[in-house]
Amino acid sequence: MNFDIIRTNRKKSVSIEVNDGIVKVRVPKNLSEKKIQTIINDRLAWIEKKIDEQSKQVIDMPKQYVDGEFFSYLGDEYQLQIIEDSHEHIVLNEKYLQVMLPMISHIDDISKHVSSLLTKWYEQQALSILTKKTKKFGDVINNRPASIKIRDYKSRWGSCSSKGVITYNWRIIIGPEHVVDYVVVHELSHLLEHNHSKSFWKCVEQLFPDYKNSRKWLKINGQKLRI
Ligand SMILES: [Zn+2]
Repeated sequence: MNFDIIRTNRKKSVSIEVNDGIVKVRVPKNLSEKKIQTIINDRLAWIEKKIDEQSKQVIDMPKQYVDGEFFSYLGDEYQLQIIEDSHEHIVLNEKYLQVMLPMISHIDDISKHVSSLLTKWYEQQALSILTKKTKKFGDVINNRPASIKIRDYKSRWGSCSSKGVITYNWRIIIGPEHVVDYVVVHELSHLLEHNHSKSFWKCVEQLFPDYKNSRKWLKINGQKLRI
């Protein structure tokens, strides 16, 4: 938690304000550090609740697909840049997710256009990343799916058909890599066990010992994996 202690000329009153994860505490000039700490500790539950509420509001805010907005890719944040160029393509570098567009001034609805380009780009990246990971983990158990597909599932991360076709939700690559690994291992294990029995989870654990953390992460943060 980030605390900003502001000493004011007020005599007695203390005020606490929470904004974007930053907590501003206004205190009288001469109040001791210890007293300030006590005040913060007393209000900690309230502060945490505020931060939590505000972070939920951020999640619910739809993306505008404009310059400067942040997009997550494998758990890292990249800033969107819309740049005029001779042909349409997307470049991801250390800090930026760059959408290159020809004749920007001729595009009717840039946000809509960028949104659809980005979705396609994420889907392509997802197919490539998930195919590689499926091969990597599949080699360990000497098993591979009949084919791999990418889909836009509303409320699941993957599926494995009785014919051995694994379908992944492309949104998973918005999240951190350990979560992507978990989903791959989960679906691969369904090639051996088409249920969630004990031996299924044993297979998951054998391939990915720390899977419980990733599974928990996904339960808590899964709904945030949107662009
Ligand atoms: Zn499952």
